Formats: sequence, C-alpha cells, structure tokens
Amino acid sequence: MTSQPQVTDFQLSPTLQEFRDFVRDYAQKLGGAARYDAEVKFPGDAVQAAAKLGLLRTTVAKEYGGSAMGNLASCVMLEEINAVCASTGVTISVHNSLVNSLLGKWCTDAQKRRWFPKLVTGEWLGAYCLSEAFSGSDAAALRCEAKKNGDHYVMNGAKLWITTGSEAKLFVIFARTGPDRVKGISAFVVERDWPGVSVGKKERKLGLRGSPTTEIVCENVKVPADCLIDKEGTGFTIALDTLDGGRLGIASQSLGIARAAIELIRTHLAGQLDAKGRSTATQPEQWTLADLAAELDAYRFLTWRAALLRDQGVRCSTEAAMAKLCASRLANRAARAAVSVLGQAGVDGSNAAERILRDARITEIYEGATDIQRLVIARGLMAPA
Ligand SMILES: Cc1cc2nc3c(=O)[nH]c(=O)nc-3n(C[C@H](O)[C@H](O)[C@H](O)COP(=O)(O)OP(=O)(O)OC[C@H]3O[C@@H](n4cnc5c(N)ncnc54)[C@H](O)[C@@H]3O)c2cc1C
Repeated sequence: MTSQPQVTDFQLSPTLQEFRDFVRDYAQKLGGAARYDAEVKFPGDAVQAAAKLGLLRTTVAKEYGGSAMGNLASCVMLEEINAVCASTGVTISVHNSLVNSLLGKWCTDAQKRRWFPKLVTGEWLGAYCLSEAFSGSDAAALRCEAKKNGDHYVMNGAKLWITTGSEAKLFVIFARTGPDRVKGISAFVVERDWPGVSVGKKERKLGLRGSPTTEIVCENVKVPADCLIDKEGTGFTIALDTLDGGRLGIASQSLGIARAAIELIRTHLAGQLDAKGRSTATQPEQWTLADLAAELDAYRFLTWRAALLRDQGVRCSTEAAMAKLCASRLANRAARAAVSVLGQAGVDGSNAAERILRDARITEIYEGATDIQRLVIARGLMAPA
C-alpha cells in the first residue's frame, strides 16, 4: 500500500461549496421561469440581479474587475441557475463563457480596459456571433465579410440564431477577411450602437423562450482596426477554442435541467404511498429514477474534469465535448421521463415538466449539435498522441 493519495478529491473546495450555496439561494428565489417562458419575456431582472451578485464576472481576471473564479466555479454556478431557469442560465453562460472568456484570453490590455468595465457589471451584455444561414455546424462556411479600408474594416453580412441578440450591447462577430476557408476568418468586437448594426428577425422557439435568439445584421459597418481581436486570420481558432469553454456552460446547463427533471420524478414517486405509508412506485419507475440519478452524478464529474483542465490551461476539446454530449442527452432523457412518470401532470403546465422538456431539446443543438460532439471526440481520440 502506498501512503500517497491515489485519487483526486471529488469534493468541491469549501470556497466552491459556499459559492454553490450562495448561487443556489439566488436561483431558488428567481421564481419567474414559468412567466418568462409563457410571456416570451427576457429575464432582464434575473440577469441584473445576477450581475449585482457578481455572477457576470466569474471568468474575468481581477485586474479587469472580475472575480477570476474560473471555469469550474462557472460550471457549479450554471448548474444551479439552470436547475431553475434555463433562459436566465443560457444568457449568463453566453456572457461569461463565450464573450468574457474570449476577450480575456485574446484581447489586448487596452481592449480589455475598454470593454470589461461595462461587461462585468452587466451594464452591457455580450453575444457571440458565429452562425449564419448557411453556416451552422460547418462554421468555416461563414460569409459575413470585413474588408480592410485604411484604419478600419467595412463589415457586411447577417448572423443568425444569436443568443441575447436583441439585448446585447457588445457582439463578438466572426467575419471573412480573406479567401482561405479557415485562415480567412477573423474575430471583431462590434458595438450595438454603431451605424449599420441592427437586430433582425427574432426566432420563435420550442424552448428557452425567455432567451431572445435573433438575427444580427451588419450593413457597411465601419469597424475600427483596433476592434480586431488578436490578428487577422486567427478567428476560427478563437471561435473553436472559445467553444470548448462554452460547451462546459451548456453541459452545466444540461446538468441543471436534468437535475430539475429528476427532482420532479423523485418528488412524485416519493409521494406515492398506500394507506399504510408504503411506496407504490413501480419497479420500472424506480429504475428510471435510479438510472437518471446515477448518470447525473457521473456526467457532473465529466463536466468538472474538463473545467479543471481548462482552468489549468490544458486543451480540453475532447473532454468538453464528452461532457456536453453526455449531459445534454441526459437532460433530454430525464425531461422525457419526467413527463412520462407524471402523466397528465407532465404536460398540463401545472409544474415545470413540459417547459423542461422543451428547454432540454436545445441543449443537443447549440454550441455544436450532438453529432458534432461525437465527431470532435472521435477526432480527438484518433489524433496522434
Ligand atoms: C436556441 C439557439 C441559440 C443559438 N445561439 C447561438 C449563438 O449565440 N451564436 C451562434 O453563433 N450560434 C447560435 N446558435 C446556432 C447553433 O450553434 C447552430 O444551430 C448549430 O451549430 C447547428 O447548426 P445548424 O442549426 O445550421 O444545423 P446543421 O449544421 O444544418 O445540422 C443539422 C443536423 O445535421 C447534423 N450534421 C451537420 N453536419 C454534420 C456532419 N459533418 N456530420 C454529422 N452530422 C452532421 C447535425 O448534427 C444536426 O443534427 C443557436 C442555436 C439555437 C437553436
């Protein structure tokens, strides 16, 4: 027997346990999830309350006003928020993991000092603009273009399916600066109020109805050269690297949604008693609960593993894709099971089951659909060591 510890500690640190309880307290007081969904209303009050508690700055360094808590803390936070309201959850996930993280890693000091003061306080929300009408899974097919003209670029094109599109004041836009499919893509910060920037059509969605998903249109937008992120031609690398972190956010969202569904099943079954107080839950119902609860714990560790790697500066594309693949599938299975086990109460809106089912579906589509996660994992496994 060795006296050395042989496994990593599976407990959160006391600081993160305290943070989880702090966020849980915030999330459980939210109370508006059903209304945001029914009224298709942006959860602005919930997001601003989160901003006041410092939840929009977890991925920003302290010198720029952030709390520098990192990816693991952000995952813990997002599971708690999404267990209550996935529309609020995705807004915070995109702001932290797709926008703030990207700016923190790839922008210059001057750029960070320009934008972070507004982003960390929630005065501005951020949006990540990669997808287009003919460019979803195949992100390198994007057509939005930015043509250099002296000290600025002229940007033309339309981005589709942009989370927080109608509310955001800062957009990270990926645009074509050259003919090469991959090396011809660059990333820019574009501000909402600049001439030529407009919000186009708003999508009518199955779920996440409180989260506005819109088109962002750029018509002859004059983008100052100092709003180019990193260098010309590195946009695709930036987009994919950022998505590794984003997928941790969506994996955590999926864990939160799955947890909410499992809790509905657990409460329902625990309340099914005969006159003598014995459980009347059928064995198949109990197996369903047991399988889902075991998978929830397993995929939480998968997610935390990838988050820890990213916090250590280690590339985690395969691990992040594994986390998102498994957690998003679980969210969907758990949501379907909740609706089945609850029966009529699963679809009549008397509880969260039907909303959870609609919200869960999207976790298998955005930030890389399920098949794309499987491709990322397989390619990672087949790559030379
Ligand atoms: C609610 C919501 C919010 C979103 N928010 C944002 C956002 O903020 N910013 C942003 O840039 N985008 C956003 N998106 C877009 C999202 O990232 C894309 O929908 C996603 O990348 C899939 O692209 P697509 O919809 O064009 O589907 P497609 O790429 O057409 O894929 C359709 C199906 O084909 C499969 N498929 C495609 N290519 C392959 C392949 N090579 N091998 C195997 N299977 C394949 C996919 O897995 C999928 O099942 C959002 C989408 C939704 C639904």
